[in-house]
Amino acid sequence: MENLLKRKLRIGIAACQFGSKVRYNGKGIDLTQCLGRDRGQFIWTPVCPEIMSGMGVPRASIKLSGGNGFDFWEGKATIKNKDGENKAEMVRKGALACLETLERANIDAYIFMEGSPSCGVYRTSLKNQRLGNPPGVFGALLLNKDIFLISSIDLQSPIRWWDWKRRLVAFTWVKEQEITSKEALKEIWDKIKYVLYELHEEETIKVKNKLHEILKEETPIYDEFENIKKEILILLRKPAELENIKQHLWKNYVDFKKKEGIEVDNILEPHILRNMTHVAEELLGVEKEAKKANLFFRSSPINYKPDR
Ligand code: SF4
Repeated sequence: MENLLKRKLRIGIAACQFGSKVRYNGKGIDLTQCLGRDRGQFIWTPVCPEIMSGMGVPRASIKLSGGNGFDFWEGKATIKNKDGENKAEMVRKGALACLETLERANIDAYIFMEGSPSCGVYRTSLKNQRLGNPPGVFGALLLNKDIFLISSIDLQSPIRWWDWKRRLVAFTWVKEQEITSKEALKEIWDKIKYVLYELHEEETIKVKNKLHEILKEETPIYDEFENIKKEILILLRKPAELENIKQHLWKNYVDFKKKEGIEVDNILEPHILRNMTHVAEELLGVEKEAKKANLFFRSSPINYKPDR
């Protein structure tokens, strides 16, 4: 079982964050430019539910009323524009058309724009720090489909993007593993557990205890293997605390240096003050060495080398 992912990942993205000027006011920004060379490592599918609804650009801004996006799909909330016109049917059709496109594109993750009544997941308003009625109409559809969701704001932060990418790669790798034996399950766990401890120690200990019980059983129970896999996937969706990334970087680098005999310049001990962009560069430095010969680096356990 190689710690390697070669398939080029497919990412859906809110079109207004991919440079399309499709927002109600005719604006849009290309945040994928912040990713530098990483941009070419993915296949992108930009979609805009409000454009697919047929409302056009420019258009009057819309607002959810009477509940959130989940309520909307149950018919308990509605969408009106600034002029008081009911746009529920158009928005419903636009959201479903985009979901259909993303399903056809077979996406591995979706980058959403926070603050929109359509695409927002944790906020549907950007005004005065208010949350609005999250999730938005399209956001609710994405949550129901259990899609790996990334906020577009995090594309602007090298350390946040690094965290998303390593977790997405590990998530996809775990998802694609067929677990046909206890040994295979143990092998997956041994590769991924360091990231899980970094993300959520308490939850990871619970999963580890369950895993140990399963490994003790004489006859393999495949449903239980799948349950552990599901729990690992849930944990991998959780963003890491920045301080934890820094602390684990040092421990994991020391382990890498000892096992592989490779030293990487400029990796600093956790107590040395530096900004998180520097920490991201340190992580990328070790990752690069690990990738060259497909070595194992605990912070970023699956090497991503997409085919061209
Ligand atoms: S509906 Fe979504 S993709 Fe379209 S402009 Fe609004 S936030 Fe962007």
